Amino acid sequence: MSSAETPSHAAGFSAASGSAPAASGSAPAASGSAQSGSLLLRNVRPWGGAAQDILIEDGRIASLTPAGPVPASAEAVPEIDGRGLLAIPGLVNAHAHVDKSWWGLPWQSYGGEPGTDGRIRHERAERDGLGIPSVGITRTVLERMVAQGTTAIRSHADVDLGLGLRGIEAVRQAAAEYAGALELQIVAFPQDGVLRRPGVMSLLKDALQAGAESIGGLDPATIDRDPVGQIDGIMEIAGEAEAGVDIHLHDPAELGVFQIELVCERVERFGLQGKVNIAHGFAVAQVDAGRRGELLSRMGELGMSMTTVAPPRMGAQQLPMRELEKAGVRLGLGTDGIRDLWSPYGTGDIMGIAWQFSRAGGWVRDEDLTQVVRLASSDGAWAVGRDDHDLVVGGRGDVVLADAENPMDLLVRGPARELVVGAGRILNQREGQ
Ligand SMILES: [Zn+2]
Repeated sequence: MSSAETPSHAAGFSAASGSAPAASGSAPAASGSAQSGSLLLRNVRPWGGAAQDILIEDGRIASLTPAGPVPASAEAVPEIDGRGLLAIPGLVNAHAHVDKSWWGLPWQSYGGEPGTDGRIRHERAERDGLGIPSVGITRTVLERMVAQGTTAIRSHADVDLGLGLRGIEAVRQAAAEYAGALELQIVAFPQDGVLRRPGVMSLLKDALQAGAESIGGLDPATIDRDPVGQIDGIMEIAGEAEAGVDIHLHDPAELGVFQIELVCERVERFGLQGKVNIAHGFAVAQVDAGRRGELLSRMGELGMSMTTVAPPRMGAQQLPMRELEKAGVRLGLGTDGIRDLWSPYGTGDIMGIAWQFSRAGGWVRDEDLTQVVRLASSDGAWAVGRDDHDLVVGGRGDVVLADAENPMDLLVRGPARELVVGAGRILNQREGQ
């Protein structure tokens, strides 16, 4: 990289034409030309390479050309001077809970019992008093995530006998304010149980009618204490509706692997190849290499995927990135719930999760660090049903700029995101720039 390409400071942006979109703070893009999804990002360095001009037209990347004074487009398109900043695709949060945070409210001390069921009971007791879920809370969470570079989210939304579909409706409404520039898919999440709560099964069917893309589940063996029953139930519904399945599975070692095997059998039975995700899946990292190899191979053949939030408490027992890749099991990174009635942790920055995952996994080589950044961006877009998420012609116009030398530097140092663009619209520009 030449010195001319090196950002000399946390670079500000200067609009090169009068039609450049205004800084939007943390709100979705305001008005004017930016709404059209067309934008010219001048002098940025895709994946840390040579400086390029990226032209986005109608939400898609139309061209990448060496940075230069010659207009890349004859048409008047709003321009941003990227000042040699690193450019990567928009970040993808493959596992979020944007319905359940208390962000924006005063600090909430955790007063529940330990364990998964303790957290569920605590949340159910407190959420109504805090106005959770609501459009306002989800809006706050989305703004935090977008400001840190996220342009695509797969979010679980609670569905239970107390809430009905209110959580899904709140998430849909808050996401709609971005008019598609922020992509969001919903998993209907029966956190409080399925079989142990008669009526939830039909709520899940209703959730698909209400626009959820996938059905969730939670520890079928330890929450419902009927793994075959819960897995049969949710996967049959998904199969009939041709929807996805995304199951939280915290159960360890053999108990966890047993349930993944049950899921695999039903992927085949109900024709759900390519549509089923295992979230967390700690068990995969806890069984021996031979057992894991067989399981991952089968999951890969069935087009299954996994998501992780790289929990520090699991230490070095993180999902094995390269083993999953070899087996053809897609992997995504997620924040999980942030600042909520389960846990006060989480900032909404998916790059922070990528850092945790990489650090815990002991990755140090450039190709591995870059792959972790790809999991957090280009390679994570399967979570919202796409494979067109990169800084190439035809890719969706989702771009994040940061003052970093290259993707490795971005990952280990985590500098602020200077500019966030979704489908060619400016979603956030760092304050003071
Ligand atoms: Zn979760």
